[in-house]
Amino acid sequence: MVKEFKCPACGEWTSDSDTRCSHCGAPLHPDRTEEIERMNSFKPLDIPLIQIYADDHWFLKGFKLVLRTGQVIFIAIASAIVYIASGAVH
Ligand SMILES: [Zn+2]
Repeated sequence: MVKEFKCPACGEWTSDSDTRCSHCGAPLHPDRTEEIERMNSFKPLDIPLIQIYADDHWFLKGFKLVLRTGQVIFIAIASAIVYIASGAVH
């Protein structure tokens, strides 16, 4: 039995387990949505990492490795900033 939840934005009944209204897309549980979004921010951001292929030239491999290391560090710093910023609000 799915718990029904009335959308505060459009008044339609939607599933309580949804984070957003299936009718209008409004966030149903702002607190929960924020929590989920904060949890998601711990995952590496949606930045595709540079792919290193086995048949790449050794020089290209080294170059890509340096770039990717920088990318990983950047993502880690960005995640930390997002975490600190979201923590400072509360
Ligand atoms: Zn709605």
